[in-house]
Amino acid sequence: MKWLFELDGGARVETVLMAYRDRTTVCVSTQAGCAMACGFCATGQGGFQRHLSVGEIVEQVVRAARRARDDGRRLANVVFMGMGEPLANYDRVWPAVERVHHDLGLSARHLTLSTVGVVPGIRRLSTEDLPVNLAVSLHAANDRLRDELVPINARYPLIMLLGACADYLRAKGRRLSFEWALIDGTNDRLDDARQLADLARSLPLPAHVNLIPLNRTPGYPTRGTPPEGVQRFRHWLDGLGVNATVRRNRGGDIDAACGQLAARVELRAPSTSDVADAATAPAR
Ligand code: SF4
Repeated sequence: MKWLFELDGGARVETVLMAYRDRTTVCVSTQAGCAMACGFCATGQGGFQRHLSVGEIVEQVVRAARRARDDGRRLANVVFMGMGEPLANYDRVWPAVERVHHDLGLSARHLTLSTVGVVPGIRRLSTEDLPVNLAVSLHAANDRLRDELVPINARYPLIMLLGACADYLRAKGRRLSFEWALIDGTNDRLDDARQLADLARSLPLPAHVNLIPLNRTPGYPTRGTPPEGVQRFRHWLDGLGVNATVRRNRGGDIDAACGQLAARVELRAPSTSDVADAATAPAR
């Protein structure tokens, strides 16, 4: 289920509630838009609008928890992986994490912060008390391709990023995952799997890899890896000794990938009913 919330000042952000057989997870936004400009991402294509406040971040969790409760479920996991780069809004995101933990009672092991590679943020995170999970959106395992897909890599190249990840793991002992959006013919070849496996195994605790077939976005011509290519890539990683999970592509009918719904509503000169429709879109 996806909400599209309109904030003070008119910016819109998305929140996604995902009900699985054994758990309920909410994915929250931390910024309206995003300045990181990853070309394949609908949020990045729309540019940056503003940081969310602590309250705006926490309220997404509160509303999702209420909705889950109304459905007879208990919200157990929060992933800070929605619109925006959480570590670029550190001063508001971390107090929000603390409130979700202390005031709403969710365990730190069920809170996951994602980053596309903001190294100073990862280093700061290493000094905090709560040992949250870290999900690094890697998408490429060599600097040439990563510079292309994830522009922040030019400032914090892989050697710096991997160094910060290793230090985080040593400091916290928490699980770290690499997120990998599979893009057809771009980062889904055997060489890519080998390079990714080298990086995943180079850490003090090997990284778990989450494979996500890319959702198509209006501003990026390439398509996601087809299902057989996804399985082949997972199989290669398996053979290279790396644990990988294929994330199901869910909610295509409600523009569930980050930034898609907000982009669609922006493009169509929105009416109030668009926002209401989005808020009541059926769970998948
Ligand atoms: S992938 Fe994440 S960091 Fe990159 S532009 Fe999109 S929201 Fe920002």
